[in-house]
Amino acid sequence: MDDMPTLRLPTAAEPARSGLGVEALRRDIVDNLICLQARYPEIATPHDWYMALAYAVRDRMMTRRVATTHTYVARDAKVACYFSAEFLIGPQLGNNLINLGIERNAREALQTLGLDLDALIAIEEEPGLGNGGLGRLAACYLDSLSTLEIPAIGYGIRYEFGIFDQEIRDGWQVEVTDKWLQKGNPWEILRPDVAFYVNFGGRTESGTDNQGRFSVRWIPAYTVKGVACDTPIPGFRVNTCNSLRLWKSEAVESFDLQDFNAGDYYEAVHEKVQSETLSKVLYPNDEPEAGKRLRLAQQYFFVSCSLQDMLRLLALKGEPIERLPDMFTAQMNDTHPSIAVAELMRLLVDERQLAWDEAWDITRRTLAYTNHTLLPEALETWGLPLFQGLLPRLLEIIYEINSRFLDEVRQHYPGDDARLARMSLIDESGAKRVRMAHLATVGSHAVNGVAALHSQLLEETVLRDFAELWPGHFRNVTNGVTPRRFLMLSNPSLASLLDETLGEGWPTDLGKLRGLDKHADDAAFQERWRRVKQANKETLAAQIKTATGIVVDPSALFDIQVKRIHEYKRQHLNALYIVSLYQRLRRDPQLALTPRCFVFGGKAAPGYAMAKLIIRLINGIAEVVNDDPVVNGRLKVVFFPDFNVKNAHFIYPAADLSEQISTAGKEASGTGNMKFMMNGALTIGTLDGANIEIREEVGDENFFLFGLSAAEVERVKREGYRPADFVNANQELHEVLEVIASGHFSRGDREVFCPLVDNLRYSDPFLVMADYASYVARQEDVSTAWRDTRAWTRMSILNTAYSGKFSSDRAIREYCEQIWNIGPVRIALDQRG
Ligand SMILES: *Cc1c(COP(=O)(O)O)cnc(C)c1O
Repeated sequence: MDDMPTLRLPTAAEPARSGLGVEALRRDIVDNLICLQARYPEIATPHDWYMALAYAVRDRMMTRRVATTHTYVARDAKVACYFSAEFLIGPQLGNNLINLGIERNAREALQTLGLDLDALIAIEEEPGLGNGGLGRLAACYLDSLSTLEIPAIGYGIRYEFGIFDQEIRDGWQVEVTDKWLQKGNPWEILRPDVAFYVNFGGRTESGTDNQGRFSVRWIPAYTVKGVACDTPIPGFRVNTCNSLRLWKSEAVESFDLQDFNAGDYYEAVHEKVQSETLSKVLYPNDEPEAGKRLRLAQQYFFVSCSLQDMLRLLALKGEPIERLPDMFTAQMNDTHPSIAVAELMRLLVDERQLAWDEAWDITRRTLAYTNHTLLPEALETWGLPLFQGLLPRLLEIIYEINSRFLDEVRQHYPGDDARLARMSLIDESGAKRVRMAHLATVGSHAVNGVAALHSQLLEETVLRDFAELWPGHFRNVTNGVTPRRFLMLSNPSLASLLDETLGEGWPTDLGKLRGLDKHADDAAFQERWRRVKQANKETLAAQIKTATGIVVDPSALFDIQVKRIHEYKRQHLNALYIVSLYQRLRRDPQLALTPRCFVFGGKAAPGYAMAKLIIRLINGIAEVVNDDPVVNGRLKVVFFPDFNVKNAHFIYPAADLSEQISTAGKEASGTGNMKFMMNGALTIGTLDGANIEIREEVGDENFFLFGLSAAEVERVKREGYRPADFVNANQELHEVLEVIASGHFSRGDREVFCPLVDNLRYSDPFLVMADYASYVARQEDVSTAWRDTRAWTRMSILNTAYSGKFSSDRAIREYCEQIWNIGPVRIALDQRG
């Protein structure tokens, strides 16, 4: 600890805006309160103090940000650009303090002002710029990129309204507008000078350019301006501070009153409003049809701005266009940014006059694609009329890419028309559609899945033909999560215990957690481990009381499932088990039952009726079970509203049991599973996504496995799955469905849950009925294991001990080595500032 900045003595000489000592921080906070918030201490609100502190922290990042940019330009460093329609970055203040290493000094500085750091941290709004796992992954990767000193830029959309806030009324989800920017965002730096134009609609005209070459001109119907909004992303205890660059849409015309008569003036205002609509709102995923056209427009908008920005930076570095793949790489996070393939071609061919073949070589060497789903309904395709109407030039380019690509396929597989039809970028069965996953695959030099099983299934199913044609293109990079946010920040008492036991290197070398295994049986260490978990459970219990009014017992087994609500994630399987326990208690009130507190959390897409019904069911069960004297507190059911990163901070560390129960083959990786594991939860789970690798790391004896494997799921479906057979064969399951259908959990209403119960009985696309018995049996093993406190604690310790693989640092190193060919660049602070 001796050389830590946190212990530096305050000196009067420290500059107020960059000094890391207590006194410099205190002065900057007070200065900001007066100069930026226009308040004096006696009348300042907590929010004023939050802003003053946030700006003080931001000041310290700016010296690092400037040095970072300066070094990258001077050193000709290759930059990793992470293209993602979502970045679920979570609250920034606490994380930035930790990464800068000034949390303790900030706390002390605030104490001298009579303020509490934790209270100010709790004020920050969640920037909900993502739906769930995919957006959070992008945020974890930014943290690791900066921490590993990799030159990087995150590129995305600055949504004015992020994912909706979830409220629960009468047991139902209600969506409320997310006004995260209402009180201002201290982290954002607007860059009006970094702006690009993006065209939409209209038509194209072909002709010859002044050198006699064929050329195409796009005459758009309208143009939108994208302006850069930057959020600094500091690495952990390094000087690197990269940027998350989000694009905000604006009208192109600065509308000048003199140019318009009254009618035109309102027309001009209308156009301005339309342009600004583009980056207004994040669309929930799993949404059947809503907002299709605007969503494609958003994707093209952010991708075009980002590619234009990369070309600008390339020129700034004094590099010729051919050097683009040597100086930049762009990783496409799912197909949302896959229009980049066609847009980079357009920029190179139409705007820079490169020959097609050269442009294609540059494009493929620059881009790489990460697939995130095998679910057919989630694979993006766009109807041709919509695409043609919005992006006519891009469609022409896609046709040209496709024609050349299909020639290559024909050469490899002469006469195989079925293969040609399968691989085409255009789906011609039925109404024609553009297949974005095919475009992304064809336009990339590397394609990866996000867990071993997922990458394997990707090569065997959705992209099989492509894997056969280009076997060398395919990779696996198993996801990871940042231990800075999900251990240090979320679970400070566990972090202290780890510091004390293992030394302080573990947050950047998570394999060091292995050193815990030799303490797993130590009674004194176990006692401390349990005390940490117990305190975290008390914290969650208090939050549950505040959010829902439900009182839970922190000594019960905390069994937690938090994630987006989706049928494939099977929150209803968990709910059915609770009902079966409840039924057993009603039959035999004296039953010896392991007391459990079931916690659920997660948002359902507003148009996904079945997911919303699952929320209603969980709340219906909670209403009945929590107050039934027969249950007598032995079971508690909680639906924690508005699950987001901010809430995640106190939910993951409080879990004894992590529910990872998706139908095998459906969850690409999962990352929630990793956060639970790091925080010492045991997993009950299927052989799906990264669960498989978690079980491999921790050992089968420390993991509760159940259910069909992915191969078995496919076989059952092939052979004709009849869920009713499973219901008829299992009396307890039959009764569980009956009591739900009887209106017992819906205040006597026998209609509400019909769609859910009928779906399970007669269709059950995610094999809930097939896995039910196996799940219940495993849950019984969990209850038995819980009763042996020492054995359970040992398993809990071992879960944390063997979670090192799941650091996002490991994942980013793999991207750097296997896909990007990028290395670290040290930032010295004396470069500037
Ligand atoms: C980690 C995380 C997720 C992803 O959870 P899964 O269990 O992997 O689906 C979703 N939402 C938030 C807020 C998260 O932090």
